[in-house]
Amino acid sequence: MKLIFERSVKGRGCSVLPECEVPVWDFGEYGRKKELRLPEVSENDISRHYTELAKRTHGVNDGFYPLGSCTMKYNPKINERTAANDGFTGVHPLQPEHTVQGCLEVLKTAEQVFCEITGMDRMTFQPAAGAHGEFTGLLLIKAYHDSRNDGKRTKIIVPDSAHGTNPASAVMAGYTVVNIPSDPDGCVDLQKLREAVGEDTAGLMLTNPNTVGLFDKNILEITRIVHDAGGLVYYDGANLNAIMGVTRPGDMGFDVIHLNLHKTFSTPHGGGGPGSGPVGCKDFLARFLPSVQVEGDGPYTFVRQPDSIGMVKAFYGNFLVVVKALTYALMLGKDGLWEASRNAVLNANYLMEKLADKYKMPYRRTCMHEFVMSLEQEHEQIDVSAMDIAKALLDYGIHPPTMYFPLIVAEALMVEPTETESKENLDEIIRAFEEIYEQARTNPEAVKTAPHVTPVGRLDEVQAARKPHLKYSYDE
Ligand SMILES: *Cc1c(COP(=O)(O)O)cnc(C)c1O
Repeated sequence: MKLIFERSVKGRGCSVLPECEVPVWDFGEYGRKKELRLPEVSENDISRHYTELAKRTHGVNDGFYPLGSCTMKYNPKINERTAANDGFTGVHPLQPEHTVQGCLEVLKTAEQVFCEITGMDRMTFQPAAGAHGEFTGLLLIKAYHDSRNDGKRTKIIVPDSAHGTNPASAVMAGYTVVNIPSDPDGCVDLQKLREAVGEDTAGLMLTNPNTVGLFDKNILEITRIVHDAGGLVYYDGANLNAIMGVTRPGDMGFDVIHLNLHKTFSTPHGGGGPGSGPVGCKDFLARFLPSVQVEGDGPYTFVRQPDSIGMVKAFYGNFLVVVKALTYALMLGKDGLWEASRNAVLNANYLMEKLADKYKMPYRRTCMHEFVMSLEQEHEQIDVSAMDIAKALLDYGIHPPTMYFPLIVAEALMVEPTETESKENLDEIIRAFEEIYEQARTNPEAVKTAPHVTPVGRLDEVQAARKPHLKYSYDE
């Protein structure tokens, strides 16, 4: 593919900018020393350039995207339409409250809806992602212990199945991480938890259902053990898609949670983002929440919390993401959210059952919205790894599942189909997985050299992440 810089021809262009209406400012020594080198191309060239780029990406609009734990569900277009409303896009965060009552109503309604879904009392929309929410939630936990002059609580307990952001956030919040192993079922080992808690326990971070796709049946006992030791319990909400309308973290005993609106509530991830990781808490933690909360029920006002931990992001977070997520929640309604979770669980179990003939499932229980398979045997016997299977899926137009996570399963592939795939789609996907499995046995070389039909083959992933080539170098 030709880069846009390579399509550039001096003097060509499609500039339709209006005449400058303001005085041109001379920045003196701070001004640009060299001409700005922008590609000079026609509108046709630009259009083709972006279309070509779009063809080379993979998103939920292209095909199956079973990236476990990330909930890559279809993002309904109505979300974009609502968020594009002038009343949401044409406002400034410093506008007086009485001129943006609609926006405040959105924040208030979103707080009510998401608190009801999670069993929390208050919520902030400042954090921009799940990991950012974890950090914020841990600061709430810290502020709570500090307010009680309980300075000896320096440790956060994290199970070994946890997402890497959990221990990372705990360290960033100034805590020491205590890792506890899972039991053979992939759940929290109660004995190990009892041994780990004590006077130095600030809290426990947990995902439920956990990262192997299982609901921890001991959850009430787990939260009780931590509370009895004087700690608080943090809920990593990345897997909420399994339980909406069925059960609530607040009822399981959790004190603080984050949601990933870009996972469960159908707003775009990553490059299509930005994200949003609202943090909910029980009433006794509300006075520590960052920034401001919306109070009243029309007119609405912003109220600063008395013992706020301070701002964790500018203004009110990624507000338009909240608009999209709220649109989704209100469109589905209570019954719809419940049905979405039930179907997410049904789809995952259908896929797991159908694939279990060939692929090894280390936890052979009814799963929640995702499941983990292990390629350990194949890796040992025929030298075909989880990575090889993931790469082979690319040739079928399928995005690879999450790989090598959770760390407690060797050669792991973690599959989350989401509720937005039909049975027909799932059947096609099952056929793809089966064909790859057969090929791995009959012609392993073909699988080990996959993908074959993508624009690029196997890249050096470390170099791609560490030394990305993001700038065009002109040869002077
Ligand atoms: C995605 C995820 C996170 C982090 O969320 P981001 O929004 O990506 O920062 C944390 N925990 C789990 C289990 C996740 O899947």
